[in-house]
Amino acid sequence: MDVTARINDVYGEIAKINGKSRKTHVFDHNGYPIYAFQYGRNPEVFVSSGMHCDEWTEIYAHLFFLHNLGTRRNFPPFVSIPFINPVGLTKYPKRDRSNRRWGGKAKTEGILQRTIRNYLSRFNFQDSLDMHEDTDMRRAYVYERFRNGKASLARKILDSLHYPVLKAEEIYKEECVEGVVPSNHIEENTLESMMFHDFETNHSLTSEVPGKLSREHRVKCGTQILTLFMKHLH
Ligand SMILES: [Zn+2]
Repeated sequence: MDVTARINDVYGEIAKINGKSRKTHVFDHNGYPIYAFQYGRNPEVFVSSGMHCDEWTEIYAHLFFLHNLGTRRNFPPFVSIPFINPVGLTKYPKRDRSNRRWGGKAKTEGILQRTIRNYLSRFNFQDSLDMHEDTDMRRAYVYERFRNGKASLARKILDSLHYPVLKAEEIYKEECVEGVVPSNHIEENTLESMMFHDFETNHSLTSEVPGKLSREHRVKCGTQILTLFMKHLH
């Protein structure tokens, strides 16, 4: 599927979201609409995907979760932005700045980040998950920042995951404990750091499903991580 077909397919899936959510057209980024979906009143949780658009299976994992939410009431109220960086996908497969860093330069905030931040600032989030895929990996792992006194959520997710979890003690020069990367050297201007520092979430997670799995299993693994994240919050 080429990039235009992929984008159309994702928007087609987004258009099918209905029912229990409130849909907001946050803004158009270079002509591509960015939609947010709010489930329940006073949302406590923020879920996002599609930041790094060569990792598009996680958009589908996220949408699959939304499509199958039904009338479940056992998840905390949340806000979802399934396709947060459409312009990034237009650069696929080139991994350039607009695809990796919200379209802004390394240390400055671009319009995408600024607008998303403004939109999100009306909510009082406790926890967040940004869904990613690591192209080179055969096993899943999760970056996590959490406040002192809180238990690791990533640990609970990975312990219940039905996919292999990274065993290496180090990944990209960061310490890794049975798949949990404490993200001590969190990059500036990432969504994870924005949620943790500016929104002061208790847990800020970035999940990485194994890119070496088949497309079907990357989607399944991502959906499972999101489901476990929601379950363990409650
Ligand atoms: Zn990524």
